[in-house]
Amino acid sequence: MFMHNKRLQYTVRVSEPNPVLGSLMLEQFGGPDGELAAAMRYFTQGLAEDDPGRKDMLLDIATEELSHLEVIGSIVAMLNKGVKGALSEASMEEADLYMTINAGGDSHTQSILYGGGPALTNSSGVPWTAAYIDSRGDPACDLRSNIAAESRAKIVYERLINITDDPGIKEALGFLMTREVSHQKSFEKALYSIQDNFPAGKLPGLTPYASLYVNTSQGEGDATGPWNEGEQWERLDDVEGNLPLDGGDGQASVQLGERDMQDYAAMMGRLASDPNSSPATGADLGAGPGAGKLSDEDMGGAADMAEAKAMSRKQSAL
Ligand code: MN
Ligand code: MN
Repeated sequence: MFMHNKRLQYTVRVSEPNPVLGSLMLEQFGGPDGELAAAMRYFTQGLAEDDPGRKDMLLDIATEELSHLEVIGSIVAMLNKGVKGALSEASMEEADLYMTINAGGDSHTQSILYGGGPALTNSSGVPWTAAYIDSRGDPACDLRSNIAAESRAKIVYERLINITDDPGIKEALGFLMTREVSHQKSFEKALYSIQDNFPAGKLPGLTPYASLYVNTSQGEGDATGPWNEGEQWERLDDVEGNLPLDGGDGQASVQLGERDMQDYAAMMGRLASDPNSSPATGADLGAGPGAGKLSDEDMGGAADMAEAKAMSRKQSAL
């Protein structure tokens, strides 16, 4: 069960209202790398987790992410306090109120639609979606995804810190950013505490391909590094000369039954193209200046036109 403590995990001190900054802060409220996405990601993973240690960690971190959601949402609410009051009490001249809610970003949507409360959207007003959660129910996959998610959240917080000079907001965002660093460390430890965590799953990779680097983008800019060179790698530069990699004929085939064969042959015959035809098309019939070269077959109108032009040249020569 969940309990709620009325104190935030970190104190929110906002110097003054700023609805534009509020709408930017929504990125970490309802955005893809935001706190709701983080909480739901770890909560759903935790429910399904069978390992007692990982389950405990996932539910601890999920619950903390909900607490972060509360902190960032409170920042948004404080930043919108001024415009919220002004809008609901109609205390300003229309023109002034209009200017206030249209200060920038999607702050007008935050004011008009959401009444100054934190909306589950990103900073552009795009509604939160469960599609942000990419769990697959395998710890070697999900922990790696969680590590990436924490590093993304860290970077977005860093960017938000860089766009405000409000010391209280900077401080709270610094706390939230640092907690993502700490979560990343926990997920890294949890991943490496699973023996044989790479590759994910039970099936091994196929030996001939597992250490193969395929240099498919060739030309100036070809580079080498530890990711494609060294004793760990077998590097393939002659890509075309080695196709297909399995030594087969490189074609796609399937065994069809009698009935499927008949249908397939009939369909092929019906839809066959004639490479020797040069049919006039709508493009030829409707062609005007700039149409480029046209079909030479059945060019009634165009042929007449060409003939008429030739005639008039002849007449002016006379
Ligand atoms: Mn968080
Ligand atoms: Mn986190």
